Amino acid sequence: MCPKGGRVTAGEPAERSVLLCYNWGMDLFSGVENLNGVGPKTAEVLKKYGIRTVRDFLYNLPRDYENFEAPTSISEIRPGKVVVRGKIDSLTTRRARRRNLSVTEGVIRDKTGAIKVVWFNQSYRVRQFNPDKEYYFTGNFELKNGRYSLISPSCAEVSEINPMTGLTPIYVAHGKLKSSDFKRLMGKSREMFAQIPDMLPTAQKGERKESLFRAHFPDSLRSIKEARDYLAYEELFELILAARLNRLENEKLKAIAVPFEVGKIRKFVASLPFKLTNAQRRAAWEIFQDLEKPVPMNRLLQGDVGSGKTMVAALSALEVTLAGGQVAILAPTAILATQHFDSLSRILEPFGVKVALLTGATKQKVELKKQIKSGEVDLVIGTHALLTDDTEFKNLTLVIIDEQHRFGVEQRQKLMLKSPAGLAPHLLAMTATPIPRSLQLTVFGDLDVSILNEMPRGRKPITTTILKEVETREKLYPKITEVVEAPHRQQVYWICKAIEDGNSGMVSEVTSVKARARKLSTLFPKFRIEILHGKMKPAEKDAVMERFSQGRIDILVSTTVVEVGVDVPNATLMVIENAEAYGLAQLHQLRGRVGRGEAASFCFLLTSGDFQPSRRLRELEKSTDGFYLAEVDLKMRGPGEIYGALQHGALDLRIASLSDTRLIARAQADVLKFLQNPENMLKYDELMRGITKYQQITTLN
Ligand code: ADP
Ligand code: MG
Repeated sequence: MCPKGGRVTAGEPAERSVLLCYNWGMDLFSGVENLNGVGPKTAEVLKKYGIRTVRDFLYNLPRDYENFEAPTSISEIRPGKVVVRGKIDSLTTRRARRRNLSVTEGVIRDKTGAIKVVWFNQSYRVRQFNPDKEYYFTGNFELKNGRYSLISPSCAEVSEINPMTGLTPIYVAHGKLKSSDFKRLMGKSREMFAQIPDMLPTAQKGERKESLFRAHFPDSLRSIKEARDYLAYEELFELILAARLNRLENEKLKAIAVPFEVGKIRKFVASLPFKLTNAQRRAAWEIFQDLEKPVPMNRLLQGDVGSGKTMVAALSALEVTLAGGQVAILAPTAILATQHFDSLSRILEPFGVKVALLTGATKQKVELKKQIKSGEVDLVIGTHALLTDDTEFKNLTLVIIDEQHRFGVEQRQKLMLKSPAGLAPHLLAMTATPIPRSLQLTVFGDLDVSILNEMPRGRKPITTTILKEVETREKLYPKITEVVEAPHRQQVYWICKAIEDGNSGMVSEVTSVKARARKLSTLFPKFRIEILHGKMKPAEKDAVMERFSQGRIDILVSTTVVEVGVDVPNATLMVIENAEAYGLAQLHQLRGRVGRGEAASFCFLLTSGDFQPSRRLRELEKSTDGFYLAEVDLKMRGPGEIYGALQHGALDLRIASLSDTRLIARAQADVLKFLQNPENMLKYDELMRGITKYQQITTLN
């Protein structure tokens, strides 16, 4: 049967649709090339954008809908948002005086009159229209260069639009495939919707195919909403089920149980130059309890920048090495690994822990790897160099991943596989990019989380100021002098975006590290200024960082290589040039390099040009609370970019909003019910196949 029989005005004659329905063997996981109207070239483009299967195609939902309802006669048109229906002619396109802008103009006519239409940078519009056909146009009718025009309207051929409702979907363009192409392809697959099987045991019969159909072939705003509500529920169900299954799988694994060594841990804590915060104690305690069990720990340690996560890592590492197990700490940059090595070997070696550093720059790699394999080394701290196949351990018991969002699933897994056969290591993942509560409820609902919600004592808040570049001489330079000439000679980070001078296209507004350092040297001839960037040799980078942490550099002009983890408490002033170029989370991370000592710290966000500062920057000026900022970020950008693997866009939820806690709660309850009957996993084959991609995201290991 075809969708809802005659209710929809299908493009195909009835008999043919029926035929197509019956011929269509519904394997949702078959390739897109099997779809009507998709040739090899189109299939290639689709696949490139992650639309590989028929299922992917069906779930490539419209980004939005255009409403061409109730067009206005041109003679009655008023400024503001309008819908008109007419023919278009006199199309021309030209380059505007401003570089990189093309202007396409034309005239739209209906029986009552004519108006001018303008598009910017859409020169394909010249070729888009057939002068004999009628189209709908919708956009703003406004004054531009002294005359009223319809500005950059969206359009659709009249024959393509459901005349009863005027609604049409808008798809995200993928390469050559524009929204209209997706509409056309969807139209060709229209008959197949009837065959879409149900997927969730908890949904109503037929609800899925009906919802998918309504999402692609909308007939009223209300049915669009209902369809999308169902699809959001389905998506959350899959996500939560995946997270839940990960946990169940993890519980089946075996790990080495590590006994709690109260006495020795106490002694170690007493040897530290400071008192642990209560949050650090609590987190360590939670970790020790996990380690005592013969199943692998799977814990995320969340703590805002500067909250002292490294110390919790040190405590965990000590506990494991006391029991004779090996520990690996994975850090995203060599600078950070080196810094951890310096500070951890200093505090742990007196307690008999043999600590080693393994980065790309390590000299005697072969020798070191032998020592790791023989168990001579207890704790190895390293970068990606740790992940190579020839790095083998004797009894890897605990893996600690610092700044875990910096690593992909595969990288983390490589390390996890290095434990003795039949055993999985305990895992402690640390992150300063707080996971918003809503994400925690879904993706990480089944993860154990420890939170450092308390800063070490005596920290002063960082004062953040947005500054236009033209104001630097007056407002920033005196501050730099003040900081560097302070009694303890404090230090400055100056962050730039590019490395070389060059004025090439994209980065023309970005002042390079080198140019900036030269300029600062002229301004402050007495200060010691050095540069740091990713293209330097590892040994050079280490040397610069070493000098900076010893206080032998006053101003460090750097790219974002200092972004993660670097800890120099005497640095109290951070300048971020071209602040608009960074995301909120990244700016917060960068700023976290200061405010680590007892002196008051400052952060200046420099903006070029004279446009208003973005909301991002204003939020950052207002708050230093990473958890608050993460919520803001989630709202502004969606979850897709926030969390680790998500950098690859894997968790761009199609529709579900992670702020819909009621829907999340419903999906969660339904997942639990689903799992009570183990047979369900066999029965709901498509569901189980479909969630593998979520399973990869929702796992830490
Ligand atoms: P992050 O959580 O950002 O990784 P770090 O572990 O780098 O933070 O710690 C930041 C700084 O705070 C370090 O200089 C560290 O020695 C110091 N620190 C950690 N714990 C405490 C504490 N309980 N009291 C005082 N300083 C601490
Ligand atoms: Mg850190």
